[in-house]
Amino acid sequence: MFDTLSERLGATLANLRGKGRLSDADIDTTAREIRIALLEADVALPVVRGFIARVKERAKGVEVSGALNPAQQVVKIVNDELVTVLGGETRRIRFAKEPPSVVMLAGLQGSGKTTLAGKLAHWLKGQGHAPLLVACDLQRPNAVTQLQIVGERAGVTTFAPEPGNGVGDPVDVARRGVAHAREKMFDIVIIDTAGRLGVDEELMRQASDIREATRPDETLFVVDAMIGQDAVATAEAFRDGVGFTGVVLTKLDGDARGGAALSVREVTGQPILFASSGEKLADFDVFHPDRMASRILG
Ligand code: GDP
Repeated sequence: MFDTLSERLGATLANLRGKGRLSDADIDTTAREIRIALLEADVALPVVRGFIARVKERAKGVEVSGALNPAQQVVKIVNDELVTVLGGETRRIRFAKEPPSVVMLAGLQGSGKTTLAGKLAHWLKGQGHAPLLVACDLQRPNAVTQLQIVGERAGVTTFAPEPGNGVGDPVDVARRGVAHAREKMFDIVIIDTAGRLGVDEELMRQASDIREATRPDETLFVVDAMIGQDAVATAEAFRDGVGFTGVVLTKLDGDARGGAALSVREVTGQPILFASSGEKLADFDVFHPDRMASRILG
């Protein structure tokens, strides 16, 4: 991920090296090249526009004096703006004052929700929490079993509907899952919900009903970073149809161009909380905008 973007930004910024001062033409050329690099990385157009405008504005104010030379100052500006676009500060997951906290996962089928549910549970367990997975994806055959397997790997309990007892109603399962957690002293409930291959109304209504019924402390929109430009439209649809408080980027280990990662925060107005990057339970971490920016700038 980000390989091409990193290379292009690196080459563009390297062209400034050794310059004693930057002319307007230098800044315009650099801005144009950064713009092309971002667009080629599939970053959403409005995000690119804002980014370039801010870089240009700040680069014009660059002084010759100071500890950093002009080229280094532009690198710093680009770095700062990448951090901003990625959300600025690290935003930690929020818990309820009174346990159990409820974390609901929503997103398209294949976005990596079930895998993420296991990783998140594993991570929370490592922090001393007692998470309970709740299987509310009742659309896809095997989704419940898949979550149970993921739960076993993570060493956490999975609450699943018993056959013949409300199997068809994910809202009911979600509600009972939260009640079960309260009764059995689990302090965090992770609700896995159904996804479709594309956005559809029934899916949105179901996710929205589960949200309404369980009032999650966090509703996380799970997005496959490999889907590029489509991520923006999907994120907007989930924002309007279900609403969410944070984003999780999955499949950051892939070779996609990275545009989704760079667009989703600004387009949805919600922070990226976690990054997931592989099939193993440990391929998961809190999302740090500054570290991701450094990775992009190499
Ligand atoms: P769900 O339909 O949203 O529950 O998605 P799944 O959790 O079933 O994931 C869909 C596919 O993507 C599975 O084959 C997962 O193994 C794979 N997957 C999930 N997360 C990642 C990730 O971070 N990196 C990679 N490479 N594959 C992933």
